[in-house]
Amino acid sequence: MLLVENLSVNYGAIQALKNINFEIFQNEIVSLVGSNGAGKTTFLRTLSGLVKSKSGKIFFNKNNISNLESHEIVKLGVSQSPEGRMVFPDMTVKENLLMGAFCTKRTAQEMQNDIERMVAWFPRLGERMTQKSILLSGGEQQMLAIARALMAKPKLLLLDEPSLGIAPLIVQQIFKIISELNREGMTILLAEQNARLALKISHRAYVLELGSVIKKGDAQSLLYDDDVQRAYLGG
Ligand code: ATP
Repeated sequence: MLLVENLSVNYGAIQALKNINFEIFQNEIVSLVGSNGAGKTTFLRTLSGLVKSKSGKIFFNKNNISNLESHEIVKLGVSQSPEGRMVFPDMTVKENLLMGAFCTKRTAQEMQNDIERMVAWFPRLGERMTQKSILLSGGEQQMLAIARALMAKPKLLLLDEPSLGIAPLIVQQIFKIISELNREGMTILLAEQNARLALKISHRAYVLELGSVIKKGDAQSLLYDDDVQRAYLGG
């Protein structure tokens, strides 16, 4: 579904991604693990067209999306829930969800159906539909960020650090929903500092260090890999 060839990204003199090769097949959850500053966010933002690459190619369902604008990439079926949630704080939950569907053409009835679909996935959002998003807890904001991305009806969902700064119990709930979304057919690329959580629900994973892929493989094997255990799983 997604094929990335020799992707490099620079911020001025800093080379944030170095010759990344990556692929994700339909119906997979693939995680991208690595510590703070490894380049996970840069990779997701480059796939979304928010950061421009220096070299390399990105294909989504065989379309070369390397030089497309973000709204064009969303229309093709890739949408992102960003690190730090980035919900629109002064908008209500419902308005945030509608913003997620902004790039797609749908009738008011279709939008309403989609909002109901999101409430089925995230009942907490249903209870808070008319509240401003700034009033939500961190966990609820994370649910909203994921639901907002889903409102674009993506074929590939990019999740950047969904566990960041959220209470463990809510993280468990969110990861359960991520697994269920995948079981219902959603292809998911998950960038996570919490390698254990990510590997547990993924089919495959890539380990990123200082902008390079240093390991890749099936998630279960990486979970028991000595280097990964030492560096990312606390030994
Ligand atoms: P985190 O989870 O903390 O965001 P990350 O793995 O997602 O970490 P990136 O945020 O992609 O890593 O950062 C990769 C490298 O690029 C780091 O060295 C970072 O300092 C640098 N970097 C990121 N954004 C910018 C920017 N806008 N300008 C300059 N350098 C940046």
